[in-house]
Amino acid sequence: MFFGGKNKTNVLFVSDMHGDIPENNYYFRFPIDVIFFLGDNGEAAVNQVLEALPGIPAYGVAGNHDYDNTYGNSRALDIHGQRVKVKGMTFGGIGGCIRYKGTDSRWLLTEEEAAGVLGKVSGADFIISHSPPTRRIGGGKGYNACHDEGCQYPDPHRGFIELGRFLDRHSPKAVFHGHLHKTYSYMHGNTLVKGVYGIELVCFEKIFGQLAVYYTDCKIFEPVLVGSGKERG
Ligand SMILES: [Zn+2]
Ligand SMILES: [Zn+2]
Repeated sequence: MFFGGKNKTNVLFVSDMHGDIPENNYYFRFPIDVIFFLGDNGEAAVNQVLEALPGIPAYGVAGNHDYDNTYGNSRALDIHGQRVKVKGMTFGGIGGCIRYKGTDSRWLLTEEEAAGVLGKVSGADFIISHSPPTRRIGGGKGYNACHDEGCQYPDPHRGFIELGRFLDRHSPKAVFHGHLHKTYSYMHGNTLVKGVYGIELVCFEKIFGQLAVYYTDCKIFEPVLVGSGKERG
């Protein structure tokens, strides 16, 4: 059996449902160890998932469309600027996205604010984020925000430059994010960047000191080896 076993951790990600979840989701029948909400789900979808999966630990970060205290009425814990340990692995959270409009919202962050939040989660093995990191220019260390020039506000989908820089500096094993309504992945240096849209099950497995991450894009299980399996201090 692919899932299950002591070296495996099954993580259910839920992102950008913007309302309700479909009933009887396929992945709910697997042995799930932990649930992470990646934001923009809305309280109804969060509560539906938690009711369908009673007793399973749940954490979340808010999206730009969420309320100030989106997990306040549920058992999920908001980990914006916090780290949590799940089966020996550390997950650090950052909610919100780049401030792309003047609206008063806790979840629209400047780059400086994002850097402050990320400073609190350095050392985490994995980052749980609503926003993606900004992509590097041509694989180098530069970041292209030039499309912001002349605009009062940046493109909401360009991601946090500070999250990209955080990956350069700290090389966490992976970042899981929402916001783009896109299921995809790529490598940013040594870090796997995985976009989640909807409900997706990801399996982490320690194999010979390496950590493999299997995910379920298009129902194909595709392993990606990320970093070493050694604990970080
Ligand atoms: Zn969304
Ligand atoms: Zn969003």
